[in-house]
Amino acid sequence: MMKSISELRQDLVSGDWVVIATGRAKRPHEFSKTKRPSFVQPKKLCPFETLHNDAVSVYAIDGERGKENWWVEVIPNKYPAFGKGGVCAVFHNAGPYQRTDGVGFHEVVVTRDHERSIGRMTKEEVEVILRAYQDRYFALKNDACVEYISVFHNHGVLAGASISHPHSQIIAIPVVPPDIQRSLEGSARYFHKHQTCVHCEMVRHEIKEKKRVIYENDVFAVFAPYASKIAFEMRVFPKFHSPHFEEMSSRDREACADALRAALAKLYKGLKNPDFNFFIHTAPVGESKEFRHYHWHLEIIPKTGIWAGFEIGTGIEISVIAPETAAAFLRKIKV
Ligand SMILES: [Zn+2]
Ligand SMILES: [Zn+2]
Repeated sequence: MMKSISELRQDLVSGDWVVIATGRAKRPHEFSKTKRPSFVQPKKLCPFETLHNDAVSVYAIDGERGKENWWVEVIPNKYPAFGKGGVCAVFHNAGPYQRTDGVGFHEVVVTRDHERSIGRMTKEEVEVILRAYQDRYFALKNDACVEYISVFHNHGVLAGASISHPHSQIIAIPVVPPDIQRSLEGSARYFHKHQTCVHCEMVRHEIKEKKRVIYENDVFAVFAPYASKIAFEMRVFPKFHSPHFEEMSSRDREACADALRAALAKLYKGLKNPDFNFFIHTAPVGESKEFRHYHWHLEIIPKTGIWAGFEIGTGIEISVIAPETAAAFLRKIKV
């Protein structure tokens, strides 16, 4: 039988199909952005150089004290996508459509160094970022309007960062977003059929098979998903079952910082500082029993390709490198 030039793979949770087009394969190093200029705004135009008076939280590295030693500050977004005002959780009809007010919170998590991205930070520095995410998550989840809290990070122009100074964002919104809804439904479906968590199953399989593992420590594993949507996509999973990101212990947080730092350092070195997004997928705010089948994780999406007509028109993405090849390449990079 003739070998097929591409392979369709299905994601176990979302049911999404992707195309691994090995017939159009590139070598891993061809993805590095050596020829693209990296985007760094001058410091004097940077809005994140000084500690803000309206900062909602300020953090120093463990063992250091005082505002002058700040490493992370959390500030309200100056141009929020969601904010105070309006009425929450009231849905109105607008003809055949539905609408509700964009009530919520939009905060920015800034690290002090103007240029050094997470892949170039120490484990201790990354741990403080995660602590800020976690603290703000707890603070925002108590608001009656909040249904979901999205924590994400854009690195580089292609990833949508309008300010080059490293920062993450936290957006608390009054609805459960569609991607989370599908992920929840997928894991619930699997749970009812097999009485086990689909993500635990995947983590177990990946660690055993090793083909797509990029990095692991005692508590976290980083791997390239079997149905990777884009070349060099990575997921960071706690090896233990937990629906809620915010419930991570301080020991787990250290291990998470280690895994996230390692993944981004490998990306930085291996692909020469590509643009990327990462985000946390966690259970919605609210009654935890309802989401006990869910398993929180981080997804890292490098900007190694762009969505064209086929992707936009079908929701099927074409990846031009096999996840196994991408993982083998990243696994070898010392960080
Ligand atoms: Zn700056
Ligand atoms: Zn699980």
